[in-house]
Amino acid sequence: MTKEYDIIISGGGLTGVAAAIAAKRNGVKDVLLIERYGFLGGMATNGLVNPFMSYFKSKELYEEEHQLTFGIFQEILNRLRELGGMRDGDKRVFDAEVMKLILNRMMMEEGVELLFHTYVADVKKDKEDHVESITIANKGGLSSLKAKIFIDCTGDADIAYMAGVPYKKGRDEDGFGQPMTMCFRIANVNRSQMLPRKKINELYQAAVQRGEINNPRENVLYFDTVQDDVIHFNTTRVVMKDGTNPKELTEAELEVREQCWQMYQFLKKEVDGFQDSYFQVSAPQIGIRETRRIIGRYILTGDDVITGQKFEDSICYSAYTIDIHNPSGTGTIIRYLDKGEYYGIPYRSLLPININNLLVAGRPISSDHEAHSSLRVMPPCVGMGQAAGTAAALALKNNVLPHQVDTKELRRQLIKDGAIRE
Ligand SMILES: Cc1cc2nc3c(=O)[nH]c(=O)nc-3n(C[C@H](O)[C@H](O)[C@H](O)COP(=O)(O)OP(=O)(O)OC[C@H]3O[C@@H](n4cnc5c(N)ncnc54)[C@H](O)[C@@H]3O)c2cc1C
Repeated sequence: MTKEYDIIISGGGLTGVAAAIAAKRNGVKDVLLIERYGFLGGMATNGLVNPFMSYFKSKELYEEEHQLTFGIFQEILNRLRELGGMRDGDKRVFDAEVMKLILNRMMMEEGVELLFHTYVADVKKDKEDHVESITIANKGGLSSLKAKIFIDCTGDADIAYMAGVPYKKGRDEDGFGQPMTMCFRIANVNRSQMLPRKKINELYQAAVQRGEINNPRENVLYFDTVQDDVIHFNTTRVVMKDGTNPKELTEAELEVREQCWQMYQFLKKEVDGFQDSYFQVSAPQIGIRETRRIIGRYILTGDDVITGQKFEDSICYSAYTIDIHNPSGTGTIIRYLDKGEYYGIPYRSLLPININNLLVAGRPISSDHEAHSSLRVMPPCVGMGQAAGTAAALALKNNVLPHQVDTKELRRQLIKDGAIRE
């Protein structure tokens, strides 16, 4: 007989982890989290993404009183710091290995049931607006699992897609989403000899002009890491491919590995400080910024972001810029909010319009292409996860469906649990 859980969360990225913790802490007994890899963290670990993009009201206001994301996100920061897995500089960088460990521990402490190396492959509905079960694939073959409520934290809205939730992809004019990027790290860099950013970019552009580099990105995007001699690169770019199309995803992985090596060769040959460096690691998979965005009960827009809209049902806040890496070539659009301004993410954007026992959290929530480019960063994703887990718990406690949850009660609980402050 198929076991029925209270809540099944698909996807163990930062969003899914936060959803699972919140559900347990709010009294839900049987919470299962399913993850296709053997570790948690999603893009933060399997994409080697770094650093946490701003969780403050503006880049000039990096102080606690201007912070926007707290709760489980704050606990993650604290735990990273405790194990020496975080560097608090101009940018907040963390160690992916420490991240994997602390997330495991957090799951174990809360008593979340985990199923690793398991892929959610299908959905069965018993009514037009109700998911009855999911089909999973793993070393045991195919099997199905039931739950009262499902939370889709796959980053690509896989469950929503399989359940027939309408969605959009990419920008309006041609449907292309943001490019994919393989993050990688170069170690044994001599920092004292390393050229300044401006000079590295000049050398890069000259190499592009000479036809030695065929990466469409306009400059070299790199960050510090927790280790002094290791530099993190978020600079490859694969355009006009869809991360939910298996063939194109395969092509992207092949193309991007060549780009990684090409960049490394360029750095070693041309850039002071890199002569004795070595290619330390590439991410386990190419990083996917944007795929499906579900149609939910509210579509958050780029205007909402830029004008700092707050909603009666705001469940977390962000002030991160609109940040669109050109979906078809060179260039990046950055639009800042006014200094000190920030926007809310409404609970309604987590609710698919046509399925009643499903919540979607993280980057595929209901938004347009511009708003997505801001809300996709890690801090608000954790905030959305915490809100989704809390909402699902309240729905079960009050015997209602997620869209019938009293959003005043939800916000009160999120404030009580320290996730938001207003
Ligand atoms: C190249 C790149 C650079 C970025 N730079 C930054 C940055 O500098 N700062 C920042 O804050 N944010 C950055 N982001 C954004 C951020 O990393 C992600 O948007 C965020 O981590 C998403 O978290 P998530 O948990 O919602 O989704 P994900 O991290 O994508 O997690 C989804 C999880 O679900 C699992 N999964 C997916 N499908 C299935 C399935 N069918 N069955 C089972 N498991 C499944 C995956 O393995 C994964 O663990 C970047 C993203 C990319 C790609």
